[in-house]
Amino acid sequence: MLDFATVSAPRRPAAERAALMSDPGFGRVFTDHMVTIRYADGKGWYDARLEPFGPLSLSPATAALHYGQEIFEGLKAYAQPDGGIALFRPDANARRLNATADRMAMPRLPEELFLRALEVLVGADRDWVPTREGQSLYLRPFMIATDPFLGVRPSSEYLFAVIASPAGAYFAGGAKPVTMWVSQEYSRAAPGGTGAVKTAANYAASLRAQAQAQEAGCDQVVFLDAVQRRYIEESGSNNLFFVYDGELVTPPLNGSILPGVTRDSVLRLGAHLGLTVTERPYSLDEWRDDARSGRLKETFATGTGVVISSIGTARTADGGFSIAGAVEGPVTGRIRDQLVGIQRGTVEDPFGWRVPVQ
Ligand SMILES: *Cc1c(COP(=O)(O)O)cnc(C)c1O
Repeated sequence: MLDFATVSAPRRPAAERAALMSDPGFGRVFTDHMVTIRYADGKGWYDARLEPFGPLSLSPATAALHYGQEIFEGLKAYAQPDGGIALFRPDANARRLNATADRMAMPRLPEELFLRALEVLVGADRDWVPTREGQSLYLRPFMIATDPFLGVRPSSEYLFAVIASPAGAYFAGGAKPVTMWVSQEYSRAAPGGTGAVKTAANYAASLRAQAQAQEAGCDQVVFLDAVQRRYIEESGSNNLFFVYDGELVTPPLNGSILPGVTRDSVLRLGAHLGLTVTERPYSLDEWRDDARSGRLKETFATGTGVVISSIGTARTADGGFSIAGAVEGPVTGRIRDQLVGIQRGTVEDPFGWRVPVQ
């Protein structure tokens, strides 16, 4: 495997770090270092470095800036009760990065190199892993096409990097149930498109709908399928679950839904907790009707950022509905407690999801 050359950053003083970490929010505060690895056709991956966090120098012709050949991942490092640090299912992110790379005509990064890059960064910046309840160190691996060339074709050179950011609760307002805007005007992803992989373009395409959600006083947007405009797909950055008596329902991975690591974890945890887990198409009409009749007990969103976030209300251009009085239900809470407990090392990990950082 590649060795990482180290260019150490001046460490920020403990008092400055503590101030930045007291209320970090999400994605604004970054640690002292970053990891970068280069790729060129014919040469493979080379020049792995741990270096000071700072600006990248790129040609204005850089392919990623013009044609969006960019992919990313997101995962968290958690402080453990024994003073150690653990990553949550980083192998799943390594695999998904490569599935995304395939779809975007980019080179695969060997899984062990991906894991090593995370370890090197978290090891160097371990003082930045928050220990407070609800906080964690968010890791953002990404890869960009770096050919300085305006022709439309897959790049022949790439930069892979990892940056890290101490994170508090993702949605402002913490554990309060959120309100979703169901977009009937815009689609996020279509069959044959890139919705099932983690690429920047999906987010660019979702921002207008997200802005509308905010204009309507909602927290997030829910997208419907692009063909029939009937079935729930997911929200802009989270998968969705619907709770019935003893059952968890979530839309199936149909090629335009992102296969969330949290989604997969909740499916397995749900079954482990004795719930029936069902992946099937789920329509907006069903969501509305069952919320109104009371048959639907709870709805929640899943993702690395929020972990589990209760959804209290949904709004569309022609009305809205609340789910069970818009208060968080017991199944949502139980699954969150289990999952967060596994991540933070306070409950047993029957699945082997915690990966200690040396
Ligand atoms: C990352 C992401 C998710 C959640 O995936 P996790 O692995 O659980 O963080 C859901 N939807 C979209 C569109 C995403 O990009």
